[in-house]
Amino acid sequence: MSQATATAPSTPAPLVALTEDEVLFRDTVRQFANDSVRPLSKKMDEEGVFEHSLIDQFFQLGLMGIEVPEQYGGGAGTFFEAILAVEELSAVDASAGVVVDVQNTLVNNALLHWTTEEQKKRYLPRMCSDLVGAYALSEAGSGSDAFALQTKAELKGSEYVLNGQKMWITNGKEAGLFILLATVDPSAGYKGITAFIVEKDFPGFTVGKKEDKLGIRASSTCELILDNCRVPKDNVLGQVGKGYKIAIETLNEGRIGIGAQMIGLARGAVQHAVKYAQERKQFGKAIAEFQAIQFQIAQMATEIEAARMLLYNAARMKDAGMSFVKEAAMTKLYCSQVAERVASLCVEIYGGYGFTKDYPVEKLFRDSKIGSIYEGTSNMQLQTIAKLVIK
Ligand SMILES: Cc1cc2nc3c(=O)[nH]c(=O)nc-3n(C[C@H](O)[C@H](O)[C@H](O)COP(=O)(O)OP(=O)(O)OC[C@H]3O[C@@H](n4cnc5c(N)ncnc54)[C@H](O)[C@@H]3O)c2cc1C
Repeated sequence: MSQATATAPSTPAPLVALTEDEVLFRDTVRQFANDSVRPLSKKMDEEGVFEHSLIDQFFQLGLMGIEVPEQYGGGAGTFFEAILAVEELSAVDASAGVVVDVQNTLVNNALLHWTTEEQKKRYLPRMCSDLVGAYALSEAGSGSDAFALQTKAELKGSEYVLNGQKMWITNGKEAGLFILLATVDPSAGYKGITAFIVEKDFPGFTVGKKEDKLGIRASSTCELILDNCRVPKDNVLGQVGKGYKIAIETLNEGRIGIGAQMIGLARGAVQHAVKYAQERKQFGKAIAEFQAIQFQIAQMATEIEAARMLLYNAARMKDAGMSFVKEAAMTKLYCSQVAERVASLCVEIYGGYGFTKDYPVEKLFRDSKIGSIYEGTSNMQLQTIAKLVIK
């Protein structure tokens, strides 16, 4: 071996490679999801209510402050670990996945990057112990065109007075803290947009109607009403007028989280379908013995593997401090497409039984649809990717 080869840098690890700590963390969440979330999943879907005891267990397991530094009571983990947690929970229940996803990839992310030291001390320990977070950007008239938001914030003495309505806010029912975007100057366009840390008990703040949804029914999606809501000046997040930057940067990470939710869901669906195909007999043999079924399963497994590589690479890029905007958009776009295709095919593999609520894939099919809608629709991901590809 030449000296040049002997001293060459080591080969990068394959994308599937996990550290020992990551394997331990993933397996712990996987076991918890199977033991504690699975028995409640069907009931939560039917009732459209998230079981509160599960949220308590998320806190106890350290799943609500994965990346928060130890000094504030967090797990001092990586973004990649947050992604593993969302994938594992979503393999069992996508609503459980999104509770943990919003807390880590949106709310804690924004708090970690944009708060003052005083705000960190005030909020981060609670985010790791008992405070659920929500991220409030969308309104009835502003979804994809998020910065056309109408909620106004007016400075009066030492407080901002907020007026307006937010819509579609995940964790709305359970949350005690809201990262909420409003404009201090509607004539300034996106430059007026400002992020606020709003506590549930602030005067003038109410959680309104909860949506009755197609999928992720246990995850609460709520309207928020701000009627002369008084927010202390100290609760501005980052700088006044920088809310658009906070929103864009936070959502870039959030999109990788939605990719993880969708890949977990797709994996869960295939696991069910493989088991069923081995048990279900037609024409005197298990349907898994028909090559047509085998090829469908092979195709799904391949697409999930490809999507997971996009997902893991985007998360590793984020942890490595690289730019990951394009990869995050690709991850969300592709993982949600794969999840929808896979969940649909799994319903077919179950035949008529797959179309009923007696079997798990019907729920997974409904849950898969949200991936192409929230945190930027598929069209908006395509727009971001196109902009970065066609420079
Ligand atoms: C279950 C659920 C949970 C949610 N959670 C949250 C949350 O926690 N916080 C939050 O702030 N928001 C949340 N949202 C809102 C979500 O982010 C928006 O619904 C989403 O961004 C789309 O906005 P919209 O519904 O207004 O659709 P629209 O923006 O009206 O889009 C409608 C259609 O037009 C297309 N379209 C729009 N503009 C363009 C364009 N320029 N080019 C091509 N196509 C375009 C879209 O792709 C889509 O197909 C949630 C939504 C749901 C359903």
